[in-house]
Amino acid sequence: MNTEHIRCLIIGGGPAGYTAAIYASRAALEPVLYEGTEPGGQLTTTTVVENFPGFPGGVDANKLLGDMREQAVRLGADIRRGSVTAVDFDRRPLLVTVDSGLQIEADAVIIATGATAKYLGLPSEQKFRGLGVSACATCDGFFYRRKDVAVVGGGDTACEEATYLAGLCNKVYMIVRRDVFRASEAMQKRVRETPNIEVLWNCNTQEVLGDESGVTGVRLVRNDGEVFDIKVDGFFLAIGHHPVSELFSRWVKTDDNGYILTEDGSSRTNVPGVFAAGDVQDPRYRQAVTAAASGCRAALDAEKYLKG
Ligand code: NDP
Repeated sequence: MNTEHIRCLIIGGGPAGYTAAIYASRAALEPVLYEGTEPGGQLTTTTVVENFPGFPGGVDANKLLGDMREQAVRLGADIRRGSVTAVDFDRRPLLVTVDSGLQIEADAVIIATGATAKYLGLPSEQKFRGLGVSACATCDGFFYRRKDVAVVGGGDTACEEATYLAGLCNKVYMIVRRDVFRASEAMQKRVRETPNIEVLWNCNTQEVLGDESGVTGVRLVRNDGEVFDIKVDGFFLAIGHHPVSELFSRWVKTDDNGYILTEDGSSRTNVPGVFAAGDVQDPRYRQAVTAAASGCRAALDAEKYLKG
């Protein structure tokens, strides 16, 4: 089997990974980045990014990612298509296998594999993804100004997204499957104090309704069996995220939800030489700009580690 030695291996092609590659290249760490099966990560599910600093008119998400990638390549990063299929962090150098069968011995590894939003799994939800169905209010809420929207979920994210959307939209329905929120009391209070949020308790989504222009409504079923429709232009999922950390969790400590734990406000994991950046270690902020910033930190931490 072919084995290649790499000083700094970056796993994941999103804002965190590309930024880590930019910094690692400039630090002469000769980084190699594997982009995985969905280069660009979650940001590719949105259209225009209006809150990434430096773009007063907004920027197309794919253009932003493409530019980050190009910048990393121009500075010397070796960016490759392909996924990591196995790691062995007991070994030194760290051992990583990619889907081509190549084995990599890496002196340092930056994990930037991101997270994926949970969806309900309805065919109609899939059909209207990007056409009114979104899992990121901060990314897409602006497009629903003065319109009616629905948010699914009763946790902190759902409450936060609903109150954010309430500031933009005419009306926000929250679709909550039980008769209580999971969210903290503080977030619940914010929802209660926002007059244009209506909570639909004990409700599940049966179908997302729409036509060629996108989402037009949602068919709900109450726990007592009653089926009814609401008219909305946007349908936001806020039922949690899965950090993509399974491959590493035998070695790298995670919290109960699988988010990689880092030490002392750094990007260092419990395994020397393994660093984490972006949404795989961030249950809270999950923004392109915070992911990019943590990619920078991981590359600086890796540089310090490699240069002793
Ligand atoms: P949570 O797991 O806390 O909440 C998920 C919500 O979605 C729950 O109300 C759950 O219902 C509901 N849900 C799950 N699956 C389905 C489904 N199939 N159909 C309908 N509803 C469903 O996820 P969050 O993303 O809200 O939060 C993740 C973590 O991040 C939490 O620890 C949270 O506290 C934290 N966070 C903190 C924030 C802050 O402090 N400002 C902001 C955002 C997140 P049920 O309750 O019935 O299971």
